[in-house]
Amino acid sequence: MPIADYIPTIGLEIHVHLKTKSKMFCGCALSYGEAPNSRTCPTCLGLPGALPVLNEEAIRMTILTGQLLGATTPEVCKWDRKNYFYADMPKNYQISQYDQPLVVGGAIPMYDQYFPKPLRDGAGEDGVVGRIPLTRIHLEEDAGKSTHFGASSGLDFNRAGTPLMEVVTEPAIRTADEAAAVLASLRQILVFAGVSDADMERGQMRCDVNVSVRKSAGDPLGAKVELKNLNSVAAVRRAIVFEIERQCGELDCGIPQRQETRRWDDDRGESSDMRGKEDAHDYRDFPDPDLLPVRTGAWVAEVRGRLPELPHARRARLVRDHGLTPYDAGVLTAEPALAAYYEEAAAGAAKPKAVANWIINELLGRLNEQQTPLASNPVTSGALRELVGLVEAGAISGAQAKEVFAEMFATGAAPAAVVRERGFTQVSDDGALEGFVQQVLAAHPDLVERIRAGEAKVVNVLVGQVMKASGGRANPKRVSELLARALA
Ligand SMILES: [Zn+2]
Repeated sequence: MPIADYIPTIGLEIHVHLKTKSKMFCGCALSYGEAPNSRTCPTCLGLPGALPVLNEEAIRMTILTGQLLGATTPEVCKWDRKNYFYADMPKNYQISQYDQPLVVGGAIPMYDQYFPKPLRDGAGEDGVVGRIPLTRIHLEEDAGKSTHFGASSGLDFNRAGTPLMEVVTEPAIRTADEAAAVLASLRQILVFAGVSDADMERGQMRCDVNVSVRKSAGDPLGAKVELKNLNSVAAVRRAIVFEIERQCGELDCGIPQRQETRRWDDDRGESSDMRGKEDAHDYRDFPDPDLLPVRTGAWVAEVRGRLPELPHARRARLVRDHGLTPYDAGVLTAEPALAAYYEEAAAGAAKPKAVANWIINELLGRLNEQQTPLASNPVTSGALRELVGLVEAGAISGAQAKEVFAEMFATGAAPAAVVRERGFTQVSDDGALEGFVQQVLAAHPDLVERIRAGEAKVVNVLVGQVMKASGGRANPKRVSELLARALA
């Protein structure tokens, strides 16, 4: 039967590095790109006798994430040892949470603003097209990192013990696009909440994908195939598309489905058999005798007091209060730093939409062109506000403002200084403007003819000619008025 007739069911297990100062169970600093094994101590190296100490901020951040996703935090959570051997985990167990996680329930909202086709019908007013329910969010520690060089391997324990938040969705995702939307949405929420940088390229967010297919909605879910450790949204998409096709092909041939873990090779674009899936009891989880269960009440109350505004709430507010289009609001809230920059520049502006246009059309274009991050942006929010104010007040023309902006971007100069230095002023004086108008009318009798014959739009060409004659300094609004009067 055609692939489109099969029903895929997809679930995600998303691992996120929390942005704490130190590791989950020791005081080692969290940082990326340091010399191998320079951020280690007896605890994160798993030396005998070393004891773990809880990182309270990691607990707060996980509870905060749960609250932002509408989840609940049970009164007590506990820590368990998940036992398995791997060279980059010398304790031979990982501290995790087995049956009493920190957070249960909740959902990740999906938006389709970044997708060419709507993901699902019926977006709400806040742009949410659907919510993927969560099973749980728990906290654990990351392992070290193995690097393989030909015949030998290197082990770096700087990553060992990094607080790792695992967000587990219900198998409620239907397509590769929806999985990408879930990851994009979660990433944005985590970044806005300051919980993680969630940079997939740096391994700060990784994803296991579970995929099964069945022939009809009445059938039980098919055997679950797990794809481990995907590290980009593009890889997640490709892996899901491939796996759905592979499983449908097997079902078509009558091959019985089996639960398994497969390895995804993104370069070759295919998955391969890794191992039959261990059942949960293979890990022989048991409560960690070194760590007491945690009563969460005080933290839950504390976190409730510091809930940040979610990206979609911010978009809705900018559309409602600033008169931005949903597209503008989406661009400006892509990153918290950009949203903050826009709001500073627009503070007190008569037309926030004009400020948004300058950022989207001029600033982002130039930053992108020169591959400059927003953090090194030479135009301060105050300078941009001042420039937009000069245009709105009619002190300089739009064309002049673009030149001023180019100078501000190149040298970081203040707009008033550039205007003064270049002798930019807008000509609004009727006497001077009349001169340009008469000069242009005399030079273009053909155009005047066409306007008189009813081609009203041709007047814009004349406005353009007057602007040119004035060296871009004429006030275009006044020029239109004078031309209309002269042609009447
Ligand atoms: Zn350590």
